[in-house]
Amino acid sequence: MKPVYIGEDAELQRGHLAAACRDLYRRGWMPGTSGNISVRSGETVVITASGRSKGAMSRKDTVMVEPFEGLPLLGETEWPSAETSIHLALYQQLPNCGAVIHAHAPHSTAVAALTGTNGSIGQVVFENMELAKGLGSVDPHLVAVPVFANWSDVSRIASDVTAYLDGSAADAPPVLLIDRHGVTAWGHNIDEARNRLECVEEMSRLTLLTGAFGAGVAKETAR
Ligand SMILES: [Zn+2]
Repeated sequence: MKPVYIGEDAELQRGHLAAACRDLYRRGWMPGTSGNISVRSGETVVITASGRSKGAMSRKDTVMVEPFEGLPLLGETEWPSAETSIHLALYQQLPNCGAVIHAHAPHSTAVAALTGTNGSIGQVVFENMELAKGLGSVDPHLVAVPVFANWSDVSRIASDVTAYLDGSAADAPPVLLIDRHGVTAWGHNIDEARNRLECVEEMSRLTLLTGAFGAGVAKETAR
C-alpha cells in the first residue's frame, strides 16, 4: 500500500497550481507577475509566492500558509502573494471552497473598470446569457457579480468580501470583480474555479462586443 505522509496532498497541489498559472499566463490573463492561485489542503492553504513570473512558475514558486493570517508554515522559504488575505476570506466564509484563482483577464477587468463605484460595492448584472449556466446553481437569467473597491490596503478588500459573503453567501455567484484590477473565481478545485473564471471572462467579452453594456450590465449599489 502506498505510504501516506502529512502534507502529501499539499505537495501534489503545488504542481497543479504552478501548471494552472502557466496556462493562464499563456492565455494573457496573468501578465508578468500578476495573478495568484491557491488551493485548500486540509488545515493549510497552498498559494502562489509573491512576485513570480506566471509564465515560468514551478512548484518551488508556491508557499504553504496557515489559513488565518496567511503566515508561511515552518520550513517554507517563500513569502505568499500580497493578495492572500482575499483568498483566506473566501475559505473562511465558504466551507466548500477548495481553490481560488485571481487573474487580470482583460475583458473582466474592463467591465470592472466600467462598473466600479469608487468606494461602495457595485455590481455587474449579466442577463440571459447561456454561459451563466457554467457558474453552477445561480439563476442563469440574472447573475449579479459584485465589484469591490480596489483599496491599496488589500486587507480592506478582504474585509469587504467577508462582509458581502456574510450577507449573501448562499446566493452569491462563485466569482467577484475588483474595480480596475481583475477577476476572482472559486470552486471545489482548480479546474472548477478556472471554468468559472472562463465563464465570466467570456460573458464580459460578449457584453463588450455586442455593445449591450447599457442593457445587459447594470451599475447598481449592492449596499
Ligand atoms: Zn491582482
